Amino acid sequence: MKKVDEHISDILESVAVLPARRLPLAAAHGCALATDVRATIALPSFDNSAMDGYAVRAADVEQASPDAPVRLPVTGEIAAGAALPDLVAPGTAVRIMTGAPFPPGADTVIQLEWTDGGTETVAVHQPARRGLHIRRAGEDVTPGSLVLRAGSVLGSTQIGLLAAINVARPPVRPRPRVAVLSTGSELVAVGNAVGPGQIVDSNSHAVAAAAREAGCEVRRLTDVPDDPAQFEAALRAILPEVDAVVTTGGVSVGAHDVVKEVLAATGEVRFERIAMQPGQPQGFGVIDGVAVFTLPGNPVSALVSFELFVRPALRRMRGLTGPDRPRPVVTVAERFTSPPAKRSFLRVLVGRGADGGLVAHSAGGQGSHHLSAAAGANALLVVPEDVTVVEPGDQLTAILLAADPADDLLAGLAVDAVPASAVASLEANV
Ligand code: AMP
Ligand code: MG
Repeated sequence: MKKVDEHISDILESVAVLPARRLPLAAAHGCALATDVRATIALPSFDNSAMDGYAVRAADVEQASPDAPVRLPVTGEIAAGAALPDLVAPGTAVRIMTGAPFPPGADTVIQLEWTDGGTETVAVHQPARRGLHIRRAGEDVTPGSLVLRAGSVLGSTQIGLLAAINVARPPVRPRPRVAVLSTGSELVAVGNAVGPGQIVDSNSHAVAAAAREAGCEVRRLTDVPDDPAQFEAALRAILPEVDAVVTTGGVSVGAHDVVKEVLAATGEVRFERIAMQPGQPQGFGVIDGVAVFTLPGNPVSALVSFELFVRPALRRMRGLTGPDRPRPVVTVAERFTSPPAKRSFLRVLVGRGADGGLVAHSAGGQGSHHLSAAAGANALLVVPEDVTVVEPGDQLTAILLAADPADDLLAGLAVDAVPASAVASLEANV
């Protein structure tokens, strides 16, 4: 049987980063930058006031105090959005608003609170050093400077920065377009009457959600019965429109395992038995440049294999190189068994123990059809191939899945819980 790691590396070698595209900011949100971005303008782009107040010369208000305010005639007002302001003559003041261009002649801003707020003349109660409350052109960003590196993920702050430097369509790695196709003549679309022997199709929804969580645009194709011709037609029709296809079901050794029947015959997908539980039967291939993952049909097997094989491939397509799931070492609270020569991924709930360390409890039934237990888990406990019995107190690696509880668990997590390679790429993105 093929090792899990070997399967992962085979897949990663076969998928490429998606070609860069210039996308509007909203669509680029969450994507990785495809190239370095340099500013073409300065930020601030002109000297401006950081306060509502008065532009004056510091020398003119040197003697100001609350008891003996300095009075200056107010000769004008500069609002935000005003064009180049006039010179401020010695011994005068100009009202100025936050963000308004700072006028020549003046050299400091007296904030409104240090004055009487006058409009004809102003009484200044405090002196100010030269340059106070002036935001200088280029003090944040200079023209030509590198503001964001290739690979940076565009969160809200990065989107704001791009907008500020007037980049409307940054070059990014687009979200992969993923088709999810679940097969099985027993399947009924959710919300419909379920007849004898039928079950509700949950995989297409679960896998579509997992693909969206992995940052993809997803199309769900359903109503694909266990019929080779219909399956093949559905698959071929969608290929030109997507970057990846994920199927569930029909890959084991049953009589109507159409996915395997069709794609093994064409030789476009390699079907293999992976030394793991759940998720042993796996298929992967690249058809017309589209990555095709054929996952097993049992709901937990499908989700675990998505996590292990599909998610890293999608992240590679997205150009994401930083760390993904935290993988801390946890203390196991219960006894588990694991088949020999297979890596098990047990559904567990990781929390803080009495001593503050991370402890993993079983989330419930460990069958590959036990979806409710999986839904109560926040981590996969990784039991190595050479371990068949796990005893309470044993230390094993867990893959933390759930975002919110994981965030909480991350507080104080040892840094070496994140792979060194991941830290390196994180730093490269600073
Ligand atoms: P298969 O891999 O097609 O042999 O399916 C394995 C098991 O998973 C069977 O019990 C199927 O009924 C179940 N299964 C397959 N596809 C789905 C699906 N889309 N939703 C829920 N269960 C499924
Ligand atoms: Mg089936």
